[in-house]
Amino acid sequence: MNILVTGGAGYIGSIVAEELIREGESVVVFDNLYTGHRAAVPPEAIFVEGDLADRAAVKAVFDTYEIDAVMHFASYTLVGESMEQPFKYLGDNVTNGLNLLQEAVAHGVRRFILSSTANLFDQPERMPIDEEERIVPGSPYGESKHILERILHWMDRIFGLRYAALRYFNAAGASPTGERGEDHDPETHLIPRVLQVALGQRDKIVIFGDDYPTRDGTCVRDYIHVVDLAQAHILALRALDHGSRTYNLGNGRGFTVKEVIETCREVTGHPIPAEVGPRRPGDPAVLVASSEKIRRELGWEPKYPDLRTIVEHAWEWHRTHPHGYED
Ligand code: UDP
Repeated sequence: MNILVTGGAGYIGSIVAEELIREGESVVVFDNLYTGHRAAVPPEAIFVEGDLADRAAVKAVFDTYEIDAVMHFASYTLVGESMEQPFKYLGDNVTNGLNLLQEAVAHGVRRFILSSTANLFDQPERMPIDEEERIVPGSPYGESKHILERILHWMDRIFGLRYAALRYFNAAGASPTGERGEDHDPETHLIPRVLQVALGQRDKIVIFGDDYPTRDGTCVRDYIHVVDLAQAHILALRALDHGSRTYNLGNGRGFTVKEVIETCREVTGHPIPAEVGPRRPGDPAVLVASSEKIRRELGWEPKYPDLRTIVEHAWEWHRTHPHGYED
């Protein structure tokens, strides 16, 4: 298949592109390089630099390449920023997605994978969170993904576009080849920030609150290895002929912030000083996914479920690329 990967120069998109190529698929990456990195795009992929806001550029990609399926990662992704700049999310994320969908449909594409989010579940009533959970987006970012999920529902009904919406919890780790990993500026995520302390790029890690109702008072999150996430995309793509689907994707296991820091200490051998600071607004105490549905329906099984392996792969990437793709 010829697969268009939007955002394929980003963290998750580039690793999905790598896995797709490994499995023999042809990949066209479309990315504006605002947050992505040219060097992250696998050399075997065709790279088109362009912006989804530019409808003519999107059309040109579909005119030029016989695209069989789209995997849509390109997006603004910062929850906090979306609370300050809601139009960037409710506007651009949605209209860019619509541009992509209109051209995909116009060119007869019938397979679409959406990178969605756990930020749909701001007030979960059950833990772990399954697909029956009530959707309450936690921010304009989450809302933008919810709107895209709803748009996909209508694309399926009206045009027969088969889609999968994959709602990720905390993507983490790096490609086991050590070639691709996380390189965000600014970096907001816990594991890369903790590893920056081990690299001497940060004095200490600040724990955002230790008075949550959890086993050690710090927030519990579900860290899923980015390669396991990538495999879920590939399985979902292959299942689309049997209908559209939505899955929550996590390890099903939660780790506290303190457990993550301790694992990083063990893996790096660095003392990693930590200090407790105030809570970060909007952080729920516990977010853990139930991935029972994708396991049952597609036989998805995480290959790297333990936190230590996730941190080892992340450390290998950061240690060998202390300045990310610039190295
Ligand atoms: N966190 C923290 N210090 C940091 C960054 C994150 O204590 O410097 C906590 C954050 O409050 C959350 C967890 O680590 O409970 C994971 O945060 P991250 O931003 O990686 O992912 P999120 O859960 O927000 O998607």
